[in-house]
Amino acid sequence: MEGQAGVVCGACQCWASGRAGEVDFLLPQGGIKATVWRCAYCGTYIQDANLDDSVIRHHFDIASYTAPAMEANWRKLRTDFFKWIIKVSRHHLGRSLSGCRALDIGIAYGIMMELLREEGVEAEGVEIVAELQAAVRRRGFIVHDRIEDASDHRQDLVFAIDSFYYLNDPGRSLTAIRNLMAPDGLLAMRLANRAWYFDLIRRLGQEVAAKRFGDLKFFYTERGARLLLARTGFQVERIYWSDRGRHDPRLLESIFYKLAPLANYISPVRISPGMLVIARPAA
Ligand SMILES: [Zn+2]
Repeated sequence: MEGQAGVVCGACQCWASGRAGEVDFLLPQGGIKATVWRCAYCGTYIQDANLDDSVIRHHFDIASYTAPAMEANWRKLRTDFFKWIIKVSRHHLGRSLSGCRALDIGIAYGIMMELLREEGVEAEGVEIVAELQAAVRRRGFIVHDRIEDASDHRQDLVFAIDSFYYLNDPGRSLTAIRNLMAPDGLLAMRLANRAWYFDLIRRLGQEVAAKRFGDLKFFYTERGARLLLARTGFQVERIYWSDRGRHDPRLLESIFYKLAPLANYISPVRISPGMLVIARPAA
């Protein structure tokens, strides 16, 4: 392993040495480049920049999905989607959400927390972007810097919607999440599902383009996600391959979102844009 280029797969912990492309993080002082690797064992794609690095972190302060000016737009695009996730969570929890405690990881504009509050849930959040933290705190919510800072051991629901794949050390983060959860609690984690697409274009001789990989740390496969959850003490209850109520500003992707459930139905490969993983702490 020593001297061989690659990175440890955050999902299954194998050595991922399949070079797949390059990404770059846009920063005012110029881009930072990183390499994308594919894990041969679980198929997860990983880029090797340290997202905990303070210079790279600044990228998230200026990303299009954290800009205060974009808030109204994101509310339009995400509210129905979050409502669907809350509905799914209520179904799996098997009881009313009123009086439940919830932790939302990567709150952005606090949209999910507001919807949870309407359901009578006592919600707190985790967010790394200071400006967003301040805005959501002004609405009376508790917002933490890190997962580990959240209230202990009693969370009935933990949401990580389009945020978990930014976490640099997913094993450590999931262990921390598990430690915060009630024994009968529920984790709802939405992950982007693009590894199948990268596999396809690589078979056609292309590299994974920065534009397609974006600023994510991981593109998990179902196998990778399941291995990761199993080794951190979770039991997967169900994976949803449809993103109900999710709207996308780009026309082509919007069409894809609408066609994905059908394609998914007729194809053996899960080619949906995302997966919503519902998991519980293992007994
Ligand atoms: Zn792996």
